[in-house]
Amino acid sequence: MTTDRLYYNDSHLIEFEARVIDLTERVSNWTAVVLNRTPFYPTGGGQPSDTGTLNGARVVECIDDGDKGVLHMIQGATPAIGSIVKGRVDWPRRLDHMQQHTGQHILSQAFVTLFNAATKSFRVLDQSCEIDVELTNPTAEIIERAVELANNVIWEDRPLAIRNVTAEEAAALPLRKDPAREGELRLIEIEGFDLTPCGGTHAYRTGEVGMIAVRSWERAKGLTRIEFVAGGRALADYRRANKSAREIATLFSTGRGDAPDLAARMLEENKELHRQVRVLEEIAAASEAEKLIVAAQTGADGLRVVTQVFDARDAESLKKLAHALIANSKTVVLLGSRDSDTARLVFARSADATADMNALMREACVQLDGRGGGKADMAQGGGKNVNKLSDVLELAKRRLSPQ
Ligand SMILES: [Zn+2]
Repeated sequence: MTTDRLYYNDSHLIEFEARVIDLTERVSNWTAVVLNRTPFYPTGGGQPSDTGTLNGARVVECIDDGDKGVLHMIQGATPAIGSIVKGRVDWPRRLDHMQQHTGQHILSQAFVTLFNAATKSFRVLDQSCEIDVELTNPTAEIIERAVELANNVIWEDRPLAIRNVTAEEAAALPLRKDPAREGELRLIEIEGFDLTPCGGTHAYRTGEVGMIAVRSWERAKGLTRIEFVAGGRALADYRRANKSAREIATLFSTGRGDAPDLAARMLEENKELHRQVRVLEEIAAASEAEKLIVAAQTGADGLRVVTQVFDARDAESLKKLAHALIANSKTVVLLGSRDSDTARLVFARSADATADMNALMREACVQLDGRGGGKADMAQGGGKNVNKLSDVLELAKRRLSPQ
């Protein structure tokens, strides 16, 4: 004896009575209950399992055990073998699955009708669904044409019919996809639009699907993966999308429709501001350099050495200042900056000075327990020994003018 699968004939049957024909204890208080008949749909064909109750115990999942029937995994009081139980399928979950699943039939046929693009696989995810379609050139226009056709079929409220046929009869019919099994077949027909073998639960009429929207798509393994939402999920997705669009619009003190233009304009302005900041930094560096040059003393050899330590100044800023300083003749620049855990150095010299900045920098970085280097006229580096920074600069300065 096996389970009579009531969901095959009526997708809207949710309350029922049945007899318990088998029980298996499973892990952690779960029991697998087999009934002589059930409207519970077990996981399969891309559609998740139904949930619900059996005599008040929770049905947390249903598993298809082939000829043995449908296993209802229950948590709660276990019914006795041979007893009659009252059951109930969770309707909001069933309706959601029917909307996604029937929506998939419609959207898949829309891609076949318009672009001869077959669907290779289908998945119901937590908040959306995916189909993999043989579409080589997905564009917004192509996708939206299929969405348009699918929604027109929904709003025409076409009836769905279940047709049980033999393999021979099926062979003569224009099925959207090849049957995955042998023998008698269950076909789902959307009047005048789609005919395909399927064992899932479907809407009575296309209108029940409500609406289909495509969220995104991407090329994947030679196919196009399309993420869509149908029915209640389309409304939930609209709410989320509307919320984020309105939040962004509020940031720009504008309406939802104007936010993208304003966001693009602000990014442009931001780029321009960055450019202006860089120009101002050059000007500031030149002015700062002038003051440091005036204050610097020139040695007997005519060489001017500018040594300065800053707090929390980044390497780019140090380099800008160094460049401004070595625009002056016979000048060597030894600049340092310190954060709580890092010391930074930039050494540079004018073209008419001779010291090797790379060699000086390598020696200094060993003292700082770090690394650095560069060219003979410009080098940079740093290290962890922040408290040695002043000593290191003093040493470098002495190397330049041996007493
Ligand atoms: Zn189906």
